[in-house]
Amino acid sequence: GYRARSAYKLKQIDEEADLFERGDTVVDLGAAPGGWLQVAAEEVGEAGTVVGVDLQRIDDLDDHDVETIRGDMTEERTRHYLREAVDEEGADVVVSDMAPNMTGEYTLDHARSVHLARQAFDAADELLASGGDFVVKVFQGDDLDAFRDDVSEAFQYVRTVSPPASRDSSSEVYLVGKGYTRSPVAEGD
Ligand code: SAM
Repeated sequence: GYRARSAYKLKQIDEEADLFERGDTVVDLGAAPGGWLQVAAEEVGEAGTVVGVDLQRIDDLDDHDVETIRGDMTEERTRHYLREAVDEEGADVVVSDMAPNMTGEYTLDHARSVHLARQAFDAADELLASGGDFVVKVFQGDDLDAFRDDVSEAFQYVRTVSPPASRDSSSEVYLVGKGYTRSPVAEGD
């Protein structure tokens, strides 16, 4: 079984947006307790690489060889560790399920969620290989459209996915950017 029910959300997003291939390098931001790590590791197989980051400690995954980093994605040093963990060819997929601690105050929770989503986008910008994909959770609200527009500038296209497994927290959606276009690797082509 999976460590977190949220694993099913990533499976549903993958079914809809076709994220993972065998051998891929995947970075998972806000990865604790590790449900998404389990799904990613299954999908990329033994030839793949999966790296997870969270503020919380992530217990080792028994069946999979996954590297985990304990750190805050708003801090530069965490990004530094991540760059070291991903080889020069870059990541094929960056996913973020990061969420702020909820206060119940809708506009504040939204603003914090967008802030974290932008941190994930910056990390994706640093890590993704040309053609790579990006998934990021964000709570709906006033700043979502502007964020979506910014993401769409870096990808061939962006879609908004509401996986059935996240029906109960109806304010969350996932933006999926397909086909990263800003990689330095692509610039000389
Ligand atoms: N996808 C995970 C799974 O399947 O097990 C569940 C992730 S949970 C919804 C959100 C996570 O984001 C929490 O574990 C939280 O610690 C993490 N998080 C929130 N802010 C963060 C930050 N600034 N840096 C790193 N992780 C963060």
